[in-house]
This record gives sequence, structure tokens and C-alpha cells, in this order.
Amino acid sequence: METSTSGLEPGLYIVAGPIGNLGDLSPRGAEILRLADVIAVEDTRVSARLLRHAGSERPMVPYHDHSAEGVRARLIERMASESVALLSDAGTPLISDPGYKLVRDARAAGRNITTLPGPSAAIAALTLSGLPTDRFLFMGFLPVKQKARADTLAEVVALRATLIFYESGPRLSESLAAMAEHLGDRDAAVSREISKTFEETRTGTLTELSARYADAPPKGEIVVIVGPPGEAPPASAEDADAALMEAMERLPVSKAAGEVAKKFGLDRRALYDRALELKG
Ligand code: SAM
Repeated sequence: METSTSGLEPGLYIVAGPIGNLGDLSPRGAEILRLADVIAVEDTRVSARLLRHAGSERPMVPYHDHSAEGVRARLIERMASESVALLSDAGTPLISDPGYKLVRDARAAGRNITTLPGPSAAIAALTLSGLPTDRFLFMGFLPVKQKARADTLAEVVALRATLIFYESGPRLSESLAAMAEHLGDRDAAVSREISKTFEETRTGTLTELSARYADAPPKGEIVVIVGPPGEAPPASAEDADAALMEAMERLPVSKAAGEVAKKFGLDRRALYDRALELKG
């Protein structure tokens, strides 16, 4: 393969940056930032600080996946003969950050693509949580609207995996309460400001954590880790029906469905429909 004027092979270099502590930028990542012909960034002001730290004076171009098609097409074109680094404001590009469409199109165009791996808040928080790490699902940011949030949580309620959410301080308590309502009151961990001066991880049930943050929304950047549902074996259809019939003797249909959904880690809406069938 030909070499660009930078001395790097032409193509796309995905560079993970720090999530707080600049010292977490890898030496290899820093070298790419010093050598690349151009660096695609989310925000030039934010990235200028990291480039100074890395000793890079390479030019930046703003890039977002929602940038005009022409911006992406030009970067893909440049990758044919130049080295293009991709950097986001924090952590690993593409993880709740721009880059997916750039990588997709670079692959389709047959460009050389490599990654300089490094920090991501999702994995850092998972390792701090003390919750199971063998199966996990990254959920990104929960939708803000109540209905969309409930629908998103309903999709994963029965999943036997630890869940990872990005969150902001002002919404934290409300989100934790919604998780308790729709997923059941599971064990959880809230990590904030990882790798920074005020790094802190608190653990408890979702309800306990929601109460703890209700009056004092925390400052800074936050990841919520939610443990998998209880270890009870998945309920058979007969067990779920029996529990629904019993619960409906005491409770209105929607509450009965909610109670059984939590008990067995099943989908609340499906149980609600089933409860109506049984009642009818
Ligand atoms: N690409 C990044 C990564 O790999 O972690 C994530 C970018 S996303 C736009 C930003 C979110 O990541 C924040 O709102 C917060 O939820 C989480 N985050 C980033 N840095 C963090 C840190 N130092 N401590 C805790 N959470 C962090």
C-alpha cells in the first residue's frame, strides 16, 4: 500500500481518547494524532486540548454522523491517499458518539481501517460495579419521554444480562425510579466522574439509589449499571398463568400484570394481554 505524506498508511484510524484523565490517552493513540494528515473531531475546541496534550499540531475537521453527506464523502475520498484519524470528545468514538456511518462507508469503499483502542465509560463503570460481567448489554442513553422510556425498558426486562446506561445528573433519580418500576428493584451501581478528581461509585437497589439522589442530583458524567434479574428459572406459561390468576384476585389487572412481571422477570405488557384473556 502507498504511504501518505504523514508516513502513515492511508486510511481511517479510530483513536480512543480519555474519559477524563488525559493520561489515559495511549502512547500509540497520541502518535497517530501527531502523524495523521487530518483529524475528524466532534468539537474542535474540546479536541484542541487533547491535541495540545499529545503534542499534535495536525489540522482538525468537524465531523458528525448527521453532517452533510458531502462531508463524509470527502473524508472517505481522502482516506484513499491520506491518513484520517477519528476522535470524539471523550472515550471511544462510535460509542454514543459519531463515527458509525463513517466506518460503514469507509468499509463499503474498501478503505484501510484500524483502531487505537482505549477507555470507554461503559466498560470502566462495568468493572467498578461488582455486578456480573459475563453477559452485558449497552443501552446508551434512555429516551427522555416516559412512554418511550417504558417501551425501551420493557424490551429488555426478561434479558439475563447486566445493563449499562449513560445518564445525566438532573435525570438520574427519575431514571432509576423508572428502571425499578419496569425492570424490578434490582441491584445497581452509579459511577460518576470516572478517572477524574471526584470519581465515585455508589451501589444499592434501584429504589435505594433513586431515593439517595432525589434531593441532590449529582454533578458530572454518570453511568448506571443494572444487574440481571433474579436467578429464579424462567417461569413456565402455567406458572405465569397461575400467578396472574392469584394476583388478579387481589389487584386490578394492570397491577397484577406488573407484580407477576417483576416476580418472574417477564414482559409486563405481554402479561397484561394474557391477564385480559384469562379474565375474559
Ligand atoms: N464515547 C464515550 C465513551 O466511550 O464512553 C461516551 C460518549 S457519551 C456522548 C458521554 C456519556 O458517557 C456521558 O454523558 C456519561 O454518561 C458517560 N461518561 C463519559 N465520561 C465519563 C466519566 N468520566 N465518568 C462517568 N461517565 C462518563
